[in-house]
Amino acid sequence: MDWYLECSLDGRRVDPAGLPTVCECGQPLLVRYERERPSLAIRSSLLAPRSSLFAIRGMWRWRPFLPIANSEQPIALGEGDTPLLEVPRLAARIGLPRALVKDEGVNPTGSFKARGLSAAVTRAVFGGAKAFTLPTAGNAGVAASAYGARAGVPVRVYAPKTTPAPILAQIVAYGGDLVLLDGHIGDCGKASRAYAAESGAFDLSTLREPYRIEGKKTLGLEIAEQLGWSLPDAIIYPTGGGTGLIGMWKAFHELRDAGWVSGNLPRMYTVQAAGCAPVVKSFESGADRCEAWAEPWTIASGLRVPGPLGDRLMLRALRESGGGAVAVTDAALALEAREASRLEGIDFSPEGGAAVAAAKTLQQQGVLTAKERVVLFNTGAGWLYRNPAELPPGT
Ligand SMILES: *Cc1c(COP(=O)(O)O)cnc(C)c1O
Repeated sequence: MDWYLECSLDGRRVDPAGLPTVCECGQPLLVRYERERPSLAIRSSLLAPRSSLFAIRGMWRWRPFLPIANSEQPIALGEGDTPLLEVPRLAARIGLPRALVKDEGVNPTGSFKARGLSAAVTRAVFGGAKAFTLPTAGNAGVAASAYGARAGVPVRVYAPKTTPAPILAQIVAYGGDLVLLDGHIGDCGKASRAYAAESGAFDLSTLREPYRIEGKKTLGLEIAEQLGWSLPDAIIYPTGGGTGLIGMWKAFHELRDAGWVSGNLPRMYTVQAAGCAPVVKSFESGADRCEAWAEPWTIASGLRVPGPLGDRLMLRALRESGGGAVAVTDAALALEAREASRLEGIDFSPEGGAAVAAAKTLQQQGVLTAKERVVLFNTGAGWLYRNPAELPPGT
């Protein structure tokens, strides 16, 4: 392998052979590449349609930035290459005329979780995993079940009973062995780790293995490519476990180190739900870790992560980038998801609605201005949260 793993806290170097998890100190490991920097010649061939080097579409076009050898085939379903859309009516509504929406809802399995799980399952299968387990707030369970099926490896999924029904149905549809629990993803994490210890199944939880981050990194790589090798002024990202935020921040550094982009990196803004906002609280108090949020609740289930393992890395990215953190109510995020879907024909999830609500707040505060190019993330598809039986009265 032409990479190693580095502890995100103490910098210790860890061998990537087999099935790496976290550092001995318990903190997440990050991938550091020991290969030639991806050249500008590769950059031009990335843009060329169906070049021989990048014959496949989707995130695995970015192999020079990903943990995979040329001889290896990824476990893939066509994830990535999602549209970065102009949204004139939505942009007018939020007072940010240059706003763009990166629509991750069109990924296989309906969310950006596909990127992370494609990378994690690929590496774990090469590392010898024969079974997987993970706790989920919803969409990670769908993606893990699908990529497990794609690899022919069984997947145990622990999810809260309160997870939206269409998400649970998708987990079962892809053959996931679903276990419903009272409580939140933290409670599911304990059950999943106990099952991993007793059964030998490999735990795919956020940041408990080093490769989901690498898949999420392709969000940042794609934005740079879609903006003609420039970066936006700001990014608004609905944050739960934090892999999207941490992954993009890593991507921007790697792109700049390779000379593929130059200048300032985007300001990163996190949005959380008011009923579960540990990152916002720590950002505001100046802390470098999060305290577990008591009794977390939000309809944006992907944001219901009371004690993220990546707290340090998230807070560091927000501060280093000169960004910030915003909490929005469930009423606001639901309203914005509905309005944005109607205005633009994009299937906004509640989490995507949270990004819109945060953009509006930041515009009103003067933190984001009309001349700035702002990318809002719709991290998943809205249909995964909707009960189709619930039509408006009189329909
Ligand atoms: C998981 C999830 C999030 C949170 O993403 P992280 O990268 O774990 O912070 C946001 N939105 C949706 C739809 C999700 O499924």
